[in-house]
Amino acid sequence: MNASAENSTEHTRTGGSVDSLKRAFTDNLFYVTGRTFRKATPIDHYTALAYTVRDRLLERFIHTAQDYRHQRAKTVAYLSAEFLTGPHLGNNILNLGLWPNLSQALTELGLDLDTVLDTEQEPGLGNGGLGRLAACFMDSLATLEIPAIGYGIRYEYGIFDQEIHDGWQVEITDAWLRNGNPWEIPNLQRRFPVHFGGHTEQYVDKQGHQRTRWLPETTILGLAYDTPILGYGVQNVNLLRLWKSEARESFDLQAFNHGDYYGAVNDMVVAQNLSKVLYPNDEPEVGKVLRLRQQYFFVSCSLQDMLRITLRDTDGLDHFPDKFAVQLNDTHPAIAIAEFMRLLLDEYHADWNRAWALTQRSFAYTNHTLLPEALETWSLDLFRRTLPRHLEIIYEINSRFMDEVRMTFLGDQGRLARMSLIDERGDKAVRMANLACVGAMAINGVAALHTELLKTTVLKDFHDMWPEKFSNKTNGVTPRRFLALANRPLAALIEETIDHGWLRDLNEFSRLEPYIDDAAFRQRWREVKRIAKVSFAAYLREVTGVTVDPDSMFDVQAKRIHEYKRQHLNLLHVVSHYLRLKQQPDLDTPPRTFIFSGKAAPGYRMAKLVIKLTNAIADVVNRDRKVNDRLRVVFVPDFSVKVGQRLYPAADLSEQISTAGKEASGTGNMKFSMNGALTIGTLDGANVEIRNAVGEENFYLFGLNVDEVQQRFADGYHPRDVILQTPELHEALDLIGSGLFAHGDKQLFAPLLDNLWNHDPYLVCADFHAYRECQGRVANDFRDAELWSRMSILNVARIGYFSSDRAIREYCRDIWKVQPVSITVS
Ligand SMILES: *Cc1c(COP(=O)(O)O)cnc(C)c1O
Repeated sequence: MNASAENSTEHTRTGGSVDSLKRAFTDNLFYVTGRTFRKATPIDHYTALAYTVRDRLLERFIHTAQDYRHQRAKTVAYLSAEFLTGPHLGNNILNLGLWPNLSQALTELGLDLDTVLDTEQEPGLGNGGLGRLAACFMDSLATLEIPAIGYGIRYEYGIFDQEIHDGWQVEITDAWLRNGNPWEIPNLQRRFPVHFGGHTEQYVDKQGHQRTRWLPETTILGLAYDTPILGYGVQNVNLLRLWKSEARESFDLQAFNHGDYYGAVNDMVVAQNLSKVLYPNDEPEVGKVLRLRQQYFFVSCSLQDMLRITLRDTDGLDHFPDKFAVQLNDTHPAIAIAEFMRLLLDEYHADWNRAWALTQRSFAYTNHTLLPEALETWSLDLFRRTLPRHLEIIYEINSRFMDEVRMTFLGDQGRLARMSLIDERGDKAVRMANLACVGAMAINGVAALHTELLKTTVLKDFHDMWPEKFSNKTNGVTPRRFLALANRPLAALIEETIDHGWLRDLNEFSRLEPYIDDAAFRQRWREVKRIAKVSFAAYLREVTGVTVDPDSMFDVQAKRIHEYKRQHLNLLHVVSHYLRLKQQPDLDTPPRTFIFSGKAAPGYRMAKLVIKLTNAIADVVNRDRKVNDRLRVVFVPDFSVKVGQRLYPAADLSEQISTAGKEASGTGNMKFSMNGALTIGTLDGANVEIRNAVGEENFYLFGLNVDEVQQRFADGYHPRDVILQTPELHEALDLIGSGLFAHGDKQLFAPLLDNLWNHDPYLVCADFHAYRECQGRVANDFRDAELWSRMSILNVARIGYFSSDRAIREYCRDIWKVQPVSITVS
């Protein structure tokens, strides 16, 4: 508290009492938004409250930066092209411990906290799981008091907003900055130049050393926009530093002097375009110069910033690895390996061996995918045109590395070709995963199964060469956002039962286990789930117009739409369930609401057709009076962190049904389970570990495992034969093919159906029978409310391991070698 506060009351900008908060809110409403209380709109209310909360972060933010600096603390630099943070306001209120007082303050002012929270436009600076992981990690790093900076891009347009028109996905640009962003602090003095194009030349410096100079074609600037990231129940406020691109001032001036005013303006527009838009996943990488430029842009700014900090806080460059552990979130920032080398060689005049040794002690790489088509490569031509100096450096790294491979594997030609940083086949390309593996001190997968598959398949050669570099770090999610914030009734029941230690140590949840035998507790557990379902049903009605029964089973699949995630397997079960209800009107089965949500990449035709099919099935089924008291299908538009926070708590059943071996980890699976949903799933990604943790009797397992999937393909897989031998599947496919869901159009869904009949690369048909049968067991068990409650409680009680706090502790211990630094603000 500020000692200079007037009249022994608290300071308006820092105080936490109801009175201070009321005063701060009204002050901010007037002085920030320039509106009187009577004229204020919901956005004004949000802005005023956001500034009220931000004011209370700033003292800690500044203290944290100072303390880290004075203690010369080793810092984690988390490099990620995506940070899907979700709305900030609620999380900061929770972490500050201000919830009760702020809620009261607003009530006394005639406002409602939840309504104000709902006004926040979330920064959609990520596609899905990978970006959300980065955000969960930032939350855990701060909560664990680990010095950390998240480095990324301040996209002006994040992931598109999804609207549904006539059942189809329509992409709307995400103007998340429209109403301003109270959470970012532009740090306009932190600006770094970033170069592109041009060529290189050799020269001899004054000491007589042979050196290389890059003569770039263009130079732009990166400007830092800082967002404070507060930990839960601690004073540490870490930094999320996102770079925005701008034209260099001198650049337009120069052109202006040459009389080319419009050319100069055009160059400015080009420079500003760089950080304009986030690229959606699952699209072909071809020709995306801008994407490569974005990656290089944010990596270069971030490394220049880290080198500045290193030279400021240590005795020199050689201490870089003691000052920073740099984590590469997938290969998007892998160009950092070459850029760090360039900075050391060309700017700091280090010799190769010294520079390479520093590189290999500083970087670590997290792999996120086993899909070969998702492994990043850049055409050699494009790369040379964009980053000519980096290509030279990559060639040099490769030449030395190839010598090492030759020595290790005695000239094994196949290995050399596979491990080379350059793919020499066909259109030559730079392989970013190989670059990351060679330059990093540590390589990790994100679930036990995923890491094993990395070691035996996509990264096998690298594992054979450097087994000691590999380790597993199973993903986790933050229980603050995904339970405390998203599901307050459940959090309250848990807190009442085992106190609140779980917010900092999720293993405390194991203390819930004995309550499975407490009938009164089980009753309350069901009441809490029902509250979430009622509230979600109201939301659904509002956004889709569809009414659903909160007492039906909420069967939910919410994630990006992708064939490997197999939303179409789920849909085939829905159709088959519908058929069964039509054929056996007296069938005794619990009412179900099938809920789908997720975005498809704008250029991914099949995924967009899956969305259309979902809505088409929903249209028919929801209008069919014969079944619609027992079956509803809904597609929730615009899946996001915000929508997730409503959806995860309301689920009874969590669909985690990817083809075994395709999902690296999944984190949605953890969020559902943490909120008491049971999982129906395959042995894929972290499902394997979730099932082991919660107990196999509390998890609905079905389908082929990884070995069986491989065997099926090895034996020659013919989906047509499977379909002809599986009558329920055949019927479901034919019903879709009949045009029932397309006003008689038999062609609309043909691309999907033909693919299943003739190729089925994700084994939907092979797994259908087992899936349907497993869904039968789910239905049976759901009717036994007491049994279901026990299983649900056990899922929560045993989910402690899947906290992102546990994941971060492992990274700190095994890879980053960093220690916590406690911050105390007097
Ligand atoms: C957790 C999360 C995901 C990841 O879901 P998966 O089921 O693991 O694919 C994607 N998007 C959002 C908004 C999330 O919160």
